[in-house]
Amino acid sequence: MPELPDVEVFRRYLNATSLHQTIERVRVQDKRLLEGISTARLSKELTGRELEQTRRHGKHLLVKTGGPVWLALHFGMTGFLRYFKKTSKQPDHVRLTIEFENGFRLVFDNQRRLGRIALASDPDRFVADNQLGPDALEGIDPDGLRKLVGSSRARVKAALMDQKKLAGIGNVYSDEILFQAEIHPERKSNRLTRQEVGGLYRGMRRVLKTAIDVGADPDRLPRSYLIPRRQEGASCPRCGDAIALISFSGRSAYHCPSCQQRP
Ligand SMILES: [Zn+2]
Repeated sequence: MPELPDVEVFRRYLNATSLHQTIERVRVQDKRLLEGISTARLSKELTGRELEQTRRHGKHLLVKTGGPVWLALHFGMTGFLRYFKKTSKQPDHVRLTIEFENGFRLVFDNQRRLGRIALASDPDRFVADNQLGPDALEGIDPDGLRKLVGSSRARVKAALMDQKKLAGIGNVYSDEILFQAEIHPERKSNRLTRQEVGGLYRGMRRVLKTAIDVGADPDRLPRSYLIPRRQEGASCPRCGDAIALISFSGRSAYHCPSCQQRP
């Protein structure tokens, strides 16, 4: 599922391909992804205009149009963007197509249809309306994380993934961040020491930035990372012991029982 690093990579891709070109036509291949808007409204807001700039908040990508609205995309479990010449073969599960006058198109592919397409009057309003917490990379400082964690009785993995408290981190990156910080995913958030929360903050930033730097490609992550070894019995890159999968409160987590000691 696309998390903060993936969506940041999509944002940069859109910036590098699709800005400042007149939109000729908009096609919605699957209306079920539209949230609170009609195909006609989306088409009216985009046609004849350009995409001007982008912003990411957590797992949402917001794109400013030349008109009064921003296009808001959420990628669900399987979403991605692709930009290509009209005559090229398109990906298999296109749900939205934006055709430009230059003969290229930008498509939103979303196989499992859990993504969303919406319009927003401005990004801050969108964040408030969707009750999103601060962005995990751009919007929180060490004190902010300390307050967030200190006021939560949830297990730390659940606290990191709560989009209303902190936007952008999901199942995969929460495991990586906790592995790097050497904190067991089932620890109670408000029982972490000040030092552990400091390590959690540094680990979170380092993991998110590193993932963005490698294009969110798991195969290009450092060898010291857990993500390429998300498999029960795989060897921990730090100590060599077996990686384990645990389940709690409806979540599951890969971790190293030796490096991340249970409380
Ligand atoms: Zn280990």
